[in-house]
Amino acid sequence: MNKKQTIDLDFDREHIWHPYTSMTQPIPVYPVTHANHNLIHLETGEQLIDGMASWWSAIHGYNHPILNAAMVEQINSMSHIMFGGITHNSAVELCKKLVAITPESLTKVFLADSGSVSVEVAIKMALQYWLSQGISTKQKLMTPYKGYHGDTFAAMSVCDPVNSMHSLYNGFLPEHIFVPAPVSQFGSEFNQAEAQTLEQYFKAHHNQVAAFIIEPIVQNAGGMNFYHPDYLACVRKLCSEYNVLLICDEIATGFGRTGKLFAVEHADIEPDILCIGKALTGGTMTLSATLTSEKIATGISEGEAGVLMHGPTFMGNPLACAVACASIDLLLNQNWQQRISDINSQLQQLNKCRELDDVADVRTLGAIGVVELNDAAGSVDVAKIQAYFVEQGVWIRPFGKLIYLMPPYISDANSIKTLCDAIYNAIKDKHYR
Ligand SMILES: *Cc1c(COP(=O)(O)O)cnc(C)c1O
Repeated sequence: MNKKQTIDLDFDREHIWHPYTSMTQPIPVYPVTHANHNLIHLETGEQLIDGMASWWSAIHGYNHPILNAAMVEQINSMSHIMFGGITHNSAVELCKKLVAITPESLTKVFLADSGSVSVEVAIKMALQYWLSQGISTKQKLMTPYKGYHGDTFAAMSVCDPVNSMHSLYNGFLPEHIFVPAPVSQFGSEFNQAEAQTLEQYFKAHHNQVAAFIIEPIVQNAGGMNFYHPDYLACVRKLCSEYNVLLICDEIATGFGRTGKLFAVEHADIEPDILCIGKALTGGTMTLSATLTSEKIATGISEGEAGVLMHGPTFMGNPLACAVACASIDLLLNQNWQQRISDINSQLQQLNKCRELDDVADVRTLGAIGVVELNDAAGSVDVAKIQAYFVEQGVWIRPFGKLIYLMPPYISDANSIKTLCDAIYNAIKDKHYR
């Protein structure tokens, strides 16, 4: 037996950047040795019930035997091979599945290595499409406020300008056209004034706009906004009327999280370009895909460039493709709709947070539960609330005024109850300041 290694936290603090943190004043990180099912095991001995599914991705929980087996089998034939001039069964089988389960018109697949890159590729597709039609004026994107599409520059340029600190990169970021964020909420009435406002923007700017990019139904990192499907349906209609392509970013919402396999199904629409990632491999490997239609793909290919100008080194990585195939089968071979609906019922326990003074709103959609604090409560002290959550045996990572859950689909009722109770108690006893 190997001597048990201790994770060198001093080195970590001194030398390693974590997401959105300072190098001089990092907030604490927790050393994890292993994770299994919906439990995260710390080196210090605690086990935490996972409420985050590792940022939307680990839908089947951790260390799943079927996903592990798929990876081992692939490792034993080849972990990676270049995709230029070569193809392999894992990529072909995965793309067959993706074409089958996504909206019908999406039949052409580009495999990339992260969500942000799939957004870059989507934007490139849109720009190249119009150029190949001989239209060089359509060089901007239109997008609602409160969006989130990733951290690379083109993706960041269509994120909410305030949340993603556009002011820092003034003069470097391309400037796009922002429309008001969707206001009418999922499950309430749609306010037609939103449709009229959208139309004014399309009327004024369509000549310059290559594509409208939006997260369908759930604007996630920009405020966990669950908006009305009619907003999306209206965007689709206007895109068609005004010759603007529609890019839907399902990187967070794809693979059942909102109760539909893909959130665009809530509005019964098909985008021209679709981005998926995160849960694509069940949270095991980094992989993303950008899908588009025959029309767009042909347009691009008949243009002056003749090709789509993109090709990451790890494009179509066999290991990631193999585990993605296994993850999709695992999801579709169970009654996942029932699973999501059960988790949604259990998440209703968050509603008791409404009685707390600091709570502005509680909302759920599919397997997502959100408690939003009010302005008086302010933003949470992440380090402080996380220390409390770890004490309570749960893993939850809030941002801003939002304390939210998107647990793995394999979570049982007791786990969800523990997660909901921890949030209630954290707010009640103000463990966030
Ligand atoms: C996470 C996310 C991205 C970025 O994906 P990465 O894999 O982190 O690059 C893009 N869009 C949405 C909607 C996301 O949730």
